[in-house]
Amino acid sequence: MMSERQKQFREEYQAQIHPLYSGLLHVGVMYAVGLSVIAYCISRLEGATWEWLLVVPIFVVSNLFEWWIHKYVMHRLVDVWALRAIYDRHTRQHHQYFTDGVMTVDSSREFRIIFFPWRALFTFIGMGAPAAFAIGWVLNPNAGYILLVTMVSQYLIYETFHYCCHVHENWFVRNMPFVNTIRRHHTAHHNQGLMMGYNMNLTFPIADWLMGTSDLKRGLLGHIFNGYNEKYVKQELKDTIGKHSLKEHSFDQQPA
Ligand SMILES: [Zn+2]
Ligand SMILES: [Zn+2]
Repeated sequence: MMSERQKQFREEYQAQIHPLYSGLLHVGVMYAVGLSVIAYCISRLEGATWEWLLVVPIFVVSNLFEWWIHKYVMHRLVDVWALRAIYDRHTRQHHQYFTDGVMTVDSSREFRIIFFPWRALFTFIGMGAPAAFAIGWVLNPNAGYILLVTMVSQYLIYETFHYCCHVHENWFVRNMPFVNTIRRHHTAHHNQGLMMGYNMNLTFPIADWLMGTSDLKRGLLGHIFNGYNEKYVKQELKDTIGKHSLKEHSFDQQPA
């Protein structure tokens, strides 16, 4: 169900998107740059073996970072120029555009409200590069390249999964493991009663499980493979969820 406020916000937001904005160009460049960095780093590897094991800790740290930046930057008002802009773009715009009642887009022009601007990817690469140099120097160059491959992959997974959270219901998002999990997880995050404190992961809900900020009460594997299941929603959150929800159906009874 779309509230009057959401409807009005959407109209105003769409009216101020620049006429030359192209959603396909926005997203196309992002994937092209991201995949090129990954391909370049892989092409620089020389006989990497054990270094690939570094993917595991880097993946876990990236997952915690994703949780942290969503909770403490995107949802916290800090009156410093760039930080405030990120907060505005996410808490005030993205969360008004999408509520748990209406989570979807209908055109590629609306990609602007889903995907980060290009500067985000460059910022993350800029943040990863010194770490890659450091680890490349301490261990070996392979390790540095693998760090960048993992970080940029995590970024592309974030954008792809988040996009899957905001498309219309379809066979793929309903049945694809991980994607169906994050889709339900993120829809719950878009409930205005939960958005400031729950379901901060956008890829795999590992940090939410670890930090106790998930709306579910179940184990790690159960979290990761939860899919659309709403059986484990925390009892103590049900009042808040009900009070703020604009949803017409639960994930357990998805329309076909
Ligand atoms: Zn979202
Ligand atoms: Zn959010």
